[in-house]
Amino acid sequence: MDPKGKVAIVTGGNSGLGEGAAVRLLADGARVISFDLAGDPPASAEFIACDVSDAASVKAAVAQVIAQHGAIHILINNAGIGGLGAIATADGPGDVAAFAKVIGVNLLGAVNVAAEVAYRMIGNTPTGPDGERGVIVNSCSIASFGGQEGMGAYTAAKSALKELTLVWARDLSRHAIRVNGVAPGFMATPMVALLPPDFISELLEGNEFPKRAGTAEDFAAAVDFLIRTVLVNGEVLRLDGGARPPARTQWASGQ
Ligand code: NAD
Repeated sequence: MDPKGKVAIVTGGNSGLGEGAAVRLLADGARVISFDLAGDPPASAEFIACDVSDAASVKAAVAQVIAQHGAIHILINNAGIGGLGAIATADGPGDVAAFAKVIGVNLLGAVNVAAEVAYRMIGNTPTGPDGERGVIVNSCSIASFGGQEGMGAYTAAKSALKELTLVWARDLSRHAIRVNGVAPGFMATPMVALLPPDFISELLEGNEFPKRAGTAEDFAAAVDFLIRTVLVNGEVLRLDGGARPPARTQWASGQ
């Protein structure tokens, strides 16, 4: 799908990877609406305050976009939070409430938005030579393919989102809506800004090539490819420099 003239929602579009995708979509001529908790969207994007983990908030935000723009063609299903914690330690059971919070945002949040937006996409007029009605890109993770020690909740959410990508592509194929995902490795964004430098350099050493953190522009380029390339459907694209993280880092083991 050519983004020019299309309406695109980016969840978590006020920061990091979502902001990068929003900037690129704007440059390509799309109308971009960021669904986020707070903050400022990139210049020329609109902002609707929305908590993706709250189904009523998502419903209202999507209805507002339809009222203002009439249609939604592109969804970057990206809002997410981090979270670390073992299932149990010698001090006691793991924090199940914290686990549920990560699932609520990273998994159920993505489900809330996909459900509301895909329903609206089904009503779109077909566009382009293949008659597409919509494109969804899920922000998965390198953890979708196996989580490191302490990453239970995040891994549960992101591996489920990877599996849902293919199922949603199957659910929506009869409506000419494609669903793909991007699975970034370590990306330099505010989400990971507070991680210790030793930990980051050890993680990046595990990249094949290049041995550097990804950027919002790298993410936006992958999203752009998935939006434009009609034959790619139900796919999750790794964006990790060939990294295959070990069970735990030496840095974490040393703590
Ligand atoms: P970020 O913290 O810079 O941006 C995340 C955005 O999501 C923020 O603007 C935040 O306000 C928003 N958000 C959080 N909870 C929300 C909610 N309940 N409702 C609406 N918005 C909410 O993080 P990022 O690194 O840009 O991450 C973007 C996505 O990419 C996330 O899903 C993350 O899990 C995934 N990811 C990031 C990395 C990385 O290394 N940074 C790697 C793999 C996957």
